[in-house]
Amino acid sequence: MMIVMKSDATEEQIQAVVSRVQQAGGRAHVSAGDEVTLVGAIGVDPAGREAVGELAAEPGVDQVVPISKPYKLASLQMTGGRESTLEIAGRKIGGGAFATIAGPCTVESYDQTMSTARIMRDVDVQFFRGGAYKPRSSPYSFQGLGHEGLEILRQAKEETGLPIVTELMDVRDVEAVCEVADVIQVGARNMQNYPLLTEIGKSGVPALIKRGLSATLEELLMAAEYVLKEGNPNVILCERGIRTYETTTRFTLDIAAVPVLKELTHLPIVVDPSHAAGRRDLVLPLSMAAAAAGADGIIVETHPEPEKAVCDGPQQIRASEFGAYLRQVEAAAALVGRVPAPVSVPA
Ligand code: PEP
Ligand code: MN
Repeated sequence: MMIVMKSDATEEQIQAVVSRVQQAGGRAHVSAGDEVTLVGAIGVDPAGREAVGELAAEPGVDQVVPISKPYKLASLQMTGGRESTLEIAGRKIGGGAFATIAGPCTVESYDQTMSTARIMRDVDVQFFRGGAYKPRSSPYSFQGLGHEGLEILRQAKEETGLPIVTELMDVRDVEAVCEVADVIQVGARNMQNYPLLTEIGKSGVPALIKRGLSATLEELLMAAEYVLKEGNPNVILCERGIRTYETTTRFTLDIAAVPVLKELTHLPIVVDPSHAAGRRDLVLPLSMAAAAAGADGIIVETHPEPEKAVCDGPQQIRASEFGAYLRQVEAAAALVGRVPAPVSVPA
């Protein structure tokens, strides 16, 4: 249930509502908007529901609204229809701010990572991506540099000032990944790894959750709910293509996911055109389509020499061509009122 406060509600009245929700066995999530404050009541005991309903008569309360969706904190109702703007390491994403996350599929070496990161900084990418732990379909494929890869990412961050997005696959690596990651990536194959999601929620580090290969949008939102319910509000959703019968592309990019998710959630939505396409030549048109459909950003793979890449070479954009690519995508985003926000902290 959600308690909508009156626009002139006092801080004491809001706190009184929070206490009553807690007395009813629930957790209160306060969302302060420009006009009104909303208090989400999550996990209220069946016995306490009536008491929460009765809050409608309390001073400062406008109304009590049931949240009909199975996901609560992720729902658009939770913010009264407002898109969330996340601010991560001085970069904004959501609420009109378009963010680009770019870098190699995987950290292969110091030189490959650093040279890519420098180019990404120079073309005004907001976040640098790169996997140190790689979820590979074959156990015989390169699995990532692990700790050594994290150390290279740390150096890339130190030199370029770019915040790092990197994947966490295993709860045993939470601490090590959190030391470097500004955003923890949850890979498509781990979208329903609930203990992992819970640990990320507890860490408080922002999370980017990729849609599972065969996951519905509701399942994606429930995955986000696992992170949010631990008190971590910084969750980005990612559409990265789903499995269909089509084989000409690696996956089928579900463009409709962008406007549909916009109807359902306040969380920012980014699109990964690289894994959806599996082919470099399709990355630009898919990125432009995503931007024009209202995505809050893109996460894209790029490599200085894609033909030598250890993994996902065919889909990685040549780093030297990234700037020209990105300007076209940003032009498409601008058509629907989304523009990169200026960095608000010194790099
Ligand atoms: C990746 O981003 O490198 C990746 C492995 O993506 P996904 O989990 O979407 O397959
Ligand atoms: Mn990849």
